[in-house]
Amino acid sequence: MTAVPMPSSVESPAFPAEGEDPSPEFLADLAQHSARLETATPQQILAWAAERYFPKLTMATAFGPEGCAILHMLGEINPQVHVFNLDTGYQFQETLDLRDKIAQRYGIHVEMKQPETTVAQYEAQHGGPIYKTNPDQCCKDRKIVVLRKAVIGFKAWMSAIRRDQSADRAIVPIVGWDKKFRLVKISPLANWTKNNVWKFLLDHDVPYNPLHDQGYPSIGCWPCTRAVGLNEDERAGRWSGFQKTECGLHTHDDK
Ligand code: SF4
Repeated sequence: MTAVPMPSSVESPAFPAEGEDPSPEFLADLAQHSARLETATPQQILAWAAERYFPKLTMATAFGPEGCAILHMLGEINPQVHVFNLDTGYQFQETLDLRDKIAQRYGIHVEMKQPETTVAQYEAQHGGPIYKTNPDQCCKDRKIVVLRKAVIGFKAWMSAIRRDQSADRAIVPIVGWDKKFRLVKISPLANWTKNNVWKFLLDHDVPYNPLHDQGYPSIGCWPCTRAVGLNEDERAGRWSGFQKTECGLHTHDDK
């Protein structure tokens, strides 16, 4: 385990019971840890999270560059931490192939969590692919609902978001209460930039999605992802043509 040069609290306020709001003491404790971890490295944040919440700690990954960086770190800190992928049925084959590379390299088994319907069943139910007309509904059905079930029994989840990715993400704390999923949310890379992430991947020869070398800086499902031009924002290729910028996992509303 990576050394954690910061003490974690020995007695922490009780985790909110089902259906109850977190107590002010609980939220204050998270805020205190978050403030302290602002200057910590991602590895130190992960080590703190693993020490405090494992085995009730989980992480959702779509195998983006940030997720791959965290998986590399977890491989050194605690490869037993639960990791899952929201397998919508619409992912690129290149994304699915990364799962095997990660398993071979780090011994981390990424569990694939699927919706209750196959793509064929879902599209038959809706008279065709609704990502073309109502991507919010599609993301809700094939990601949010699946995530809600996947995190049952866990106390904390990790995200690979960076504050500089979007206005929505700019306010994410290192550690906070995720009201939407009723979990402690830990964002070890909140303070990292895109350059930090890519330097880390290249320095450590971390496996990453080959589509990144073909003009796709941000990769989601294939119908909702396109390559971007040199001067475009890194997330401009997601849900291109819609106002939508997030699948809803990292927003505060209930979309
Ligand atoms: Fe559906 Fe697109 Fe959302 Fe994937 S990203 S779940 S295809 S709307």
